[in-house]
Amino acid sequence: MSLINMSALLKEAEADNYGVGAFSVANMEMVMGVIKAAEELKSPIILQVAQVRLPFSPLSIFGPLMLAAAKEATVPVAVHLDHGLDINTIKHALDLGFSSVMIDASQLPIEENIKIVKKVKDLAGSYEADVEAEVGQLAGSEDDSADHEMLYSRPEEVQKLYEETKLEAIALSIGNAHGLYKREPRLNFEILARARERVPVPLVLHGGSGISDEDFRRCIAGGIRKINVATDTFLSVERLVREYCKEERKDYFRMSAAMVQGAYESIKRHILIFQSDGKAK
Ligand SMILES: [Zn+2]
Repeated sequence: MSLINMSALLKEAEADNYGVGAFSVANMEMVMGVIKAAEELKSPIILQVAQVRLPFSPLSIFGPLMLAAAKEATVPVAVHLDHGLDINTIKHALDLGFSSVMIDASQLPIEENIKIVKKVKDLAGSYEADVEAEVGQLAGSEDDSADHEMLYSRPEEVQKLYEETKLEAIALSIGNAHGLYKREPRLNFEILARARERVPVPLVLHGGSGISDEDFRRCIAGGIRKINVATDTFLSVERLVREYCKEERKDYFRMSAAMVQGAYESIKRHILIFQSDGKAK
């Protein structure tokens, strides 16, 4: 049990045809809510934090907390840096003991993207950690700071990235978006199918907040193994804190419990949709 490499989790998900939730966390209460849901449903999970969120949850303080929670857990947990943007931050996460890192150089031409992924792959290799990278570009942005135009992943570029770097997971852009969807997401399953044919590596869906249960299931059937969820968890935590604020009796620790509960409810729902419940070995 406890801290495990992302690639080991995704390999089992591939063999058994389910998805592993990669849940973004920002404080101790959220970490506790995620672990509580995973333990109750006996599900493997990935705990992650994106580099843009580190001003709120500093890596040197929050990283060890995530790792401690993973090591204590009774289910397998990978600890992942989401959307790593520079080598220094990635190295910091690896030094702390993160079991995987994402390098996001997807805004660059594929050749440049590959060059940077290779560098990160070499670095992560010396820690026996895994690497995720992205091809194409999602609409929106991880922290709502920009509204990127969506660029679909090109399957031949997915193949090229895999062949030249042999990384452990590839994130696709198939109509998924970060943050809240402005209109109902229309996923392009054709791109997913064509990417899957070309690479043996587990595929990743970012922007999991707002995708329908049916589309989640189609993605998993089509080879998506890691599914990132952030916004839905943050909203659920916020909602329960708002409800707490309406109560007469105020007490900080009841608010803290509301945060745990907010994360727990959102994560539980997603674990059941991803069908990873009962899969903890
Ligand atoms: Zn993302």
